[in-house]
Amino acid sequence: MSRRKKKSLFTRKKISKPKYTMGIPTDSEWKTMPNFASFIVADEEGEEHTFSIQETAFILPEGVLPDKMHHPTAYWIGRIKQIRARNDEDVWALVQWYWSPQEVNSVIKSFDVSGCGQYERIMSDYYDYVSTASFCDHAAVMRYDERSIGQEVFDSDDFYCRYDLEYRARKILPNVTRSACCCGVSYNPDRDPVMHFCPRPACRAAYHQECLQRPTQRLDPAARARKFIESWPDTDEQLSIEDVVGSQQCRKRRKRPEYAISDPLEQFPEELVKAAQQQIVKGVQAGGVVGNVKAVVAARQLIYCSLLEGSSLPTDWKDKVDVEAAIPPKRKSSPVFVCPQCQSLI
Ligand SMILES: [Zn+2]
Ligand SMILES: [Zn+2]
Repeated sequence: MSRRKKKSLFTRKKISKPKYTMGIPTDSEWKTMPNFASFIVADEEGEEHTFSIQETAFILPEGVLPDKMHHPTAYWIGRIKQIRARNDEDVWALVQWYWSPQEVNSVIKSFDVSGCGQYERIMSDYYDYVSTASFCDHAAVMRYDERSIGQEVFDSDDFYCRYDLEYRARKILPNVTRSACCCGVSYNPDRDPVMHFCPRPACRAAYHQECLQRPTQRLDPAARARKFIESWPDTDEQLSIEDVVGSQQCRKRRKRPEYAISDPLEQFPEELVKAAQQQIVKGVQAGGVVGNVKAVVAARQLIYCSLLEGSSLPTDWKDKVDVEAAIPPKRKSSPVFVCPQCQSLI
């Protein structure tokens, strides 16, 4: 897997007293100022950094010294929407802010900060004119859709955004409870060691281990592995592997082939089956912030589709399933639970 280049904040050139004295532009003045597509900030070494419209940046908060490197979470983060200038030295950007969970909590008291990680930011519809003298570096904020089965992974020190803030309406979208655990508390990637994800279309939620029940019947490892595969991401029906094969034979009005395979899973490469059998988990002790959702789901989907259609596996199946990401080398196996909503094994 290719790792993205790590963000590295640069130390800004010491800013001598700002040369501009006119202050923040008013809305009416803004309309009269000429537009630009980008602006340049020089760092201490004299290296120039170009910031363009639609890019996201770290911005020095008021009262924080510019000539020292701070922890990335100490900076404000915003997206550049417009760039205008009074003159060469007095350049401004219209910035759409990412808010910290604490800032959101200051306007929406019901917003639970404990359910957010330190790298979480909330995209707001709140804008300001910001002097380009306050821009520190490029930032990246990953979109994180917790219900998505295709969510790309990111690192534990990447900024991410699950929610949007409608400032005037004091509203958070999507509704926090939509993706929260059954206990009502959201997943906090800095705190929650293992969350179990149910990929069923009607569920698509992750649960804290301590909020889950163990299965009533004891299952041997082989039966358990099959049950995991049968938590199909493509259907809410409780279909066994054999049921899926059977429905295909029914539809095609075909008799069972004479060389009936004893186990339908035998036709698939071992590593694909192994990927599909994994528990879908995420958390600090379970493979990272996003976990193995996408990889395991892709493996189960390939098996489901192939069994349902009676077709063979696409030759490029390895491009669709990141087997390594599905089965992290050092994961301790965690206990098995049932989904509180659909009772599938998770
Ligand atoms: Zn919970
Ligand atoms: Zn479920």
